[in-house]
Amino acid sequence: MYYHVLTLFPDMVMDGLHTSIIGRAVDKGILSVEAVNIRDYTKEKHGHVDDAPYGGGAGMVMQAAPVCDAYEALCTRLGKRPRVLYMTPQGKVFNQSVARELAQEEDLVFLCGHYEGIDERALEMIVTDYLSVGDYVLTGGELPAMVMIDCISRLVPGVLSNETSAEIESFHDNLLEYPQYTRPEVYEGRRVPEVLLSGHHKNIEAWRRRQSIRRTLERRPDLLEAAVLTDKEKEFLEEISREREDIL
Ligand code: SAM
Repeated sequence: MYYHVLTLFPDMVMDGLHTSIIGRAVDKGILSVEAVNIRDYTKEKHGHVDDAPYGGGAGMVMQAAPVCDAYEALCTRLGKRPRVLYMTPQGKVFNQSVARELAQEEDLVFLCGHYEGIDERALEMIVTDYLSVGDYVLTGGELPAMVMIDCISRLVPGVLSNETSAEIESFHDNLLEYPQYTRPEVYEGRRVPEVLLSGHHKNIEAWRRRQSIRRTLERRPDLLEAAVLTDKEKEFLEEISREREDIL
């Protein structure tokens, strides 16, 4: 997977993505991350890339030309026109299924806005997808791009070691993950659930599945509508839903 991040703050992106699992995958050549400095493409004397908004109003707007020129230069270098994901609070909210879909691509361009955003004409000309990290406003698109790159990369074959599979984690089957425990068996008087020490794999699997359903009901009931459940699991869900209604 080749990531190309169009940004005014290349150091922020490169520093942020060169540690831990993603950094190791970059070192191994499984992933490649490059930050393209939009400022390198300005033709303005003082290196300006932004200007006041037409019609008035607060803040500055990033100009169309350096953004489009940075993308066109990248396309010429690559010999193709990869998808351009604009980081914006006005976009579709990024989630695990968007990540799964994007992980199929070979190249992805992340376009990071700053200030009041980017001149609409540049967006119309090059952007293929509008993506948000959530319903709140950040100062720039760099953190959203890093969040998405981190998440997508975990789904690229070879990035996670065999033991750390991304398959059975939160959002698999639209459920949250079950609780996890490690040594010691007793911590501050709290014991690890007995079944996890039993070595009985089928019982452990069943316990984890029920915990996932219970946890999703408690924390993210909105996910359950699209959860993939067996008839037995649906019965279990009804049972614990009734229990909760009685308590509330
Ligand atoms: N004026 C814009 C608006 O109201 O929609 C917000 C601009 S924001 C201050 C500056 C830049 O941060 C945006 O161009 C975008 O790239 C990025 N950004 C801010 N919040 C974001 C979010 N929730 N998701 C993705 N990108 C975001």
